[in-house]
Amino acid sequence: MTRLTKADLAQMNRDYFQSLALERLVEVTVNLHELAAEQCERLEQNSHNSSRPPSSDNPYTKKPGKKVILAPESSADTDNPTSQELEVPSDESPLPPTAQDNLVGGNEGTDPQAKRTAGKQPGAPGQWRSGLLVSEATIPHFPETCAACNGDLTDDTDLKCYMGYHTLEMEKESSGFRIKCNLHHYYENSCPCGHQTQACPGQGYVSTLEGRKRNLKIQEYTLVGPLLTTLIASLSVRHRMSRPKIREFLIDWANTPLSTGTIDRCIREAGIACTPVVEELVEQLQDAEILHLDETSWYEKGHLRFLWVAISATIAVFHIGSRRKEELLALVTTAFVGWLVSDGYIVYRSHEKRQRCLAHLIRKAIALSGAVNQQAQSMGDWLLRELRRLIQTMAQAGEERSTDAYPTLARLKRACLLAKDAEHTKLKALAREILNDWEAVIAFVKHPGLPPTNNEAERALRHAVISRRISHGTRTTEGSLAYSNLLSVIETCRLRNADPWQYIASVVKQARKGLSVPPIPSVEQVAS
Ligand SMILES: [Zn+2]
Repeated sequence: MTRLTKADLAQMNRDYFQSLALERLVEVTVNLHELAAEQCERLEQNSHNSSRPPSSDNPYTKKPGKKVILAPESSADTDNPTSQELEVPSDESPLPPTAQDNLVGGNEGTDPQAKRTAGKQPGAPGQWRSGLLVSEATIPHFPETCAACNGDLTDDTDLKCYMGYHTLEMEKESSGFRIKCNLHHYYENSCPCGHQTQACPGQGYVSTLEGRKRNLKIQEYTLVGPLLTTLIASLSVRHRMSRPKIREFLIDWANTPLSTGTIDRCIREAGIACTPVVEELVEQLQDAEILHLDETSWYEKGHLRFLWVAISATIAVFHIGSRRKEELLALVTTAFVGWLVSDGYIVYRSHEKRQRCLAHLIRKAIALSGAVNQQAQSMGDWLLRELRRLIQTMAQAGEERSTDAYPTLARLKRACLLAKDAEHTKLKALAREILNDWEAVIAFVKHPGLPPTNNEAERALRHAVISRRISHGTRTTEGSLAYSNLLSVIETCRLRNADPWQYIASVVKQARKGLSVPPIPSVEQVAS
């Protein structure tokens, strides 16, 4: 028996069924039942009972912890000179029991392997550097003034080196780059007043996380230099490489073995160091004339979160949090009085000056124009035609002749009014959606210069959406903050045609000294 096609379904209606003799009607019903059952089964397909990819699963019905997350294979900071103990199990807090149950690549239920937490396991042998670091240069650090009496310490007869550590730093060359090992020596000196003063490596912000054994200290006393830290962050965030892959890359191409834990620490350090920069960007964002906003699902420790983006012509800010309105206030405060371009999500609706993204409405109209129902199909076609014509007319007419679009507006409104009481639920919903939000849908006609779609924000999220598919999100609030901070700084620098990496390296350098970070390159600075 052949399956009913869309064309077959389109021919059937109430009149047709009523005209049938009982025997025929049963036949038709059986055919329809078969089709309905098949469709019903298909609707219930997901990654667990079919070959569909996990990314196609509905994020709202997904059980928390079903999907888990980038697992650095060894989190112990064994390559870090600051680390004396090698038996640090993990830098990250352990997952809750629900997530642990399903950890590690789809192992579920009975497998004892599935119970393991990420990172180094208790009792596993430690790893450490096999070869000694050979320094190419020694950098001395002398105390300049006496800590007690502020007198100058110029006399070097009593100078004594009291500590030292190696750093690996990347050096850019005219073509290519290399990684150089430096030895830092710190000296102490005595003052005529009798006081001993020591030069000390700088210390900055300490990022804490509940349940973690060792917190993230941003300080100079560390193995990886600022530019190499930035390279590692760029490989992770921009080039979407996992921590083990970065480790492999550094060994293969730069002959620099670093532990996965050190690599992970570098990524978070670069991200957390950018926090003051992003706070400043959020403040600047409130002065924007036009702001694009969008959000997409994100996973933090396997739990559903949302990645928000707010993007203007020269600033992009990302934020990971819930989907509630409070999170929006982290990006757009009440100080913002410009235009908001967004989709139809309810939390955006309270803003007065708003442009609704027409691309979303067009996609809904396209779906309707392929509907089985005749009325829905023709009305969907009509709505689609008018929406597209509206964008086209405004693109051609320019700022002066926006009145050219008025006839199209009138037709669109008429189509919506005709469809708003239709029987077809989706047609009715789309018509009402347009009518209820009419002013926001057509704002770009009355205010030429406004973009009719939210493509800017959607394009800004694309990179992160691909990352989400590869890494399944972040694991901790600190990881989320570091990731969104780095995205914000990289994307803002790109909007301003500035080099994000040199800038992030300078931020890390200052943050390690505990000094305030340099301002992000402005558009004027880049242009000159
Ligand atoms: Zn003194």
